Amino acid sequence: MHFLLPFLLFLLQLPSAFPARTFPQPSILNFNDTTTSSVVAAAFNSSSTPWGNFAKFANLEKGSHVTGICDLKTYLNRFGYLPAPAPGNFSDDFDSDLESAILTYQKNLGLPPTGKLDTETIDLIMAPRCGLGDSHLRHNTTTITHLHETRRYAYFNGRPRWTHNSPMTLTYAFSPDHMIDYISPEEIKAVFSRAFTRWSEVIPVNFTEAQNYRTADVRIGFHSGDHGDGEPFDGELGVLAHAFSPENGRLHLDSAETWAVDFGRERSNVAIDLESVATHEIGHVLGLAHSSVSDAIMYPSLRPRSRKVDLRVDDVEGIQALYGSNPNFNYGSLLESDRETSNSGAGGGYRKGFGFSTWWLWTIVLSLAQLIYF
Ligand SMILES: [Zn+2]
Ligand SMILES: [Zn+2]
Repeated sequence: MHFLLPFLLFLLQLPSAFPARTFPQPSILNFNDTTTSSVVAAAFNSSSTPWGNFAKFANLEKGSHVTGICDLKTYLNRFGYLPAPAPGNFSDDFDSDLESAILTYQKNLGLPPTGKLDTETIDLIMAPRCGLGDSHLRHNTTTITHLHETRRYAYFNGRPRWTHNSPMTLTYAFSPDHMIDYISPEEIKAVFSRAFTRWSEVIPVNFTEAQNYRTADVRIGFHSGDHGDGEPFDGELGVLAHAFSPENGRLHLDSAETWAVDFGRERSNVAIDLESVATHEIGHVLGLAHSSVSDAIMYPSLRPRSRKVDLRVDDVEGIQALYGSNPNFNYGSLLESDRETSNSGAGGGYRKGFGFSTWWLWTIVLSLAQLIYF
């Protein structure tokens, strides 16, 4: 039995002996994976990106005075966490108002509520995100406790939704003048077709592509900078996209992003998965606001080179409360997939893949080695 001891000791050390980051698989990296964060950190922490210089505020707390923290206050004001200064500009003081805004941000986005700019908080603040604010989370959040988990989806004020006759069909079209040229129109259409289908699978609403952009219900386009709707885009990273609540139908993507339909083909460190963003923005078009559940499609942030396209229980409960359920929808399989992801921990499919396949691979290799040796 003496030979089993080193073998077992070796197995116990596996997670640290073979950390997940030695097996990079960018196309399935999970948004919540801290490894993903560190891999792309150098790319989007650069001061050339909209919120890249916020890194210098890490670990600050109330009472600090740091030049430039007024820009962080402007960010928190933009996304609904801090009222506009009156009169004049924001100061560079880390005051009580800033502390309470950070606390609300942390609670809304599922972070530990410390009121400080801890590393986790500043990292999420700097991450690319949707242009819509989160202010509705403070007064319009619906919380449902179900199977010991808390769901936190939300709506726009007044709970607007599309009111077409049942069975409801919404048309969508792409702007003839505002597209990108490095992904083919066919691929972009296929991405949006899949994204619309994910929502139509759970609610009794159909989506069909129309040729007439002006008369379509949902109007999709890639825009840059100030594009006339009062919500200018900000260049690479920062704000990725935005959409308007029902029954407006505008869905705009920032043309300055490096959009990707395949991370194998698009190698950029700042590539953004088009399908993940399309699925999120369609949720807004239908009437969902942001969710505080980090796995949900309606969570506001999405890191570069991450992909999140499957609706979660939180998304489904939210949208079905607005439109009812598609009669063909099977809740059981969704709950099962949600539970599997929850059980796999923060790393999602990435770490789950390491834990299972790599474990067995090394077990087999080491068993063979033992047989050969003895
Ligand atoms: Zn959003
Ligand atoms: Zn716009």
